[in-house]
Amino acid sequence: EAKKNRHQKSLFFEPSMGQRLAYKVELEHEMRDAIERGEISLHYQLQKNIQTGHIVGVEALIRWNHPTLGPISPVEFIPVAEETGMIIPIGEWVMKTACRQQVEWTRQGYGSLRMSVNVSPYQFQDELFVEKILHTLRETGVDPENMTIEVTESLAIRDVEKVSAQLRLLRDTGIRLAIDDFGTGYASLKYLRTFEPHLLKIDRFFVDGIDIETERGNMVQAIIAIGRSLNMEVLAEGVETIEQLEFLRAAGCDEVQGYYLSRPLPADGVEQLLRGPFQMIRTV
Ligand code: C2E
Ligand code: MG
Ligand code: MG
Ligand code: MG
Repeated sequence: EAKKNRHQKSLFFEPSMGQRLAYKVELEHEMRDAIERGEISLHYQLQKNIQTGHIVGVEALIRWNHPTLGPISPVEFIPVAEETGMIIPIGEWVMKTACRQQVEWTRQGYGSLRMSVNVSPYQFQDELFVEKILHTLRETGVDPENMTIEVTESLAIRDVEKVSAQLRLLRDTGIRLAIDDFGTGYASLKYLRTFEPHLLKIDRFFVDGIDIETERGNMVQAIIAIGRSLNMEVLAEGVETIEQLEFLRAAGCDEVQGYYLSRPLPADGVEQLLRGPFQMIRTV
């Protein structure tokens, strides 16, 4: 309880560099057996096609609930996992867990929801990265067409040749590729030609205030136009209001994700929404 308070405090007081380092070292230490101790789980957030009104898939988002530190945000621990190499086993666990869930939902008759999995640029440095993913898909029985791999633009800053080759291998099997947080990273438009993603995910920065601030709305329209012209689908992240959703639909955005539809939820929470009147309520 004392530890928990200390952690929560750090949200309100700017911690010193020493405190930050100590916390990072603590995370690094605690992370080692977090999976074995059952502290790591996945939540899933619905993705909806706003032109057809269909729920098309879910994004898997990792959660770490530490017994004394409390819930730790992936924004905080993924960078630590990347620095320590722990991102490799964690990434494998995420992929396997997400695949099992996708198959389970298909088996239970929820339809073939697409599963979107976030992958760190560091995972591409693993020589066996592609092989491991294909193995997991085969082992669990996920149709590659129902798997989307989300990468951020920062993937583009190193080893373009190697990464392109890996992405090509993945897409050749039918796996879909998404550029996450589009518009906030380092990638030039050139990389869109090189990586040829299926989906652009517009960062929620642009969605926030979209219906109020003309410039943001214009930027979103421009991103949608880029996606269109390169035959990509476009998804807007962080949609929290009906006004934002309506703006996006009118602008021709294909899909949305955000608190307006649903927060990221544990699997049973998603099932409740899919079983309930949800689809009708939100088919605006
Ligand atoms: P992301 O992939 O861009 O995920 C979207 C983030 O926005 C999620 O935060 C989600 O909870 C949040 N979000 C969704 N809808 C809304 C909304 O309407 N309003 C607001 N304010 N936020 C919304 P989360 O779950 O904390 O994840 C943060 C980031 O951590 C992710 O950004 C992703 O980059 C990374 N991450 C999460 N899970 C994994 C994972 O399994 N592997 C890797 N490598 N990275 C992950
Ligand atoms: Mg993502
Ligand atoms: Mg994103
Ligand atoms: Mg993000």
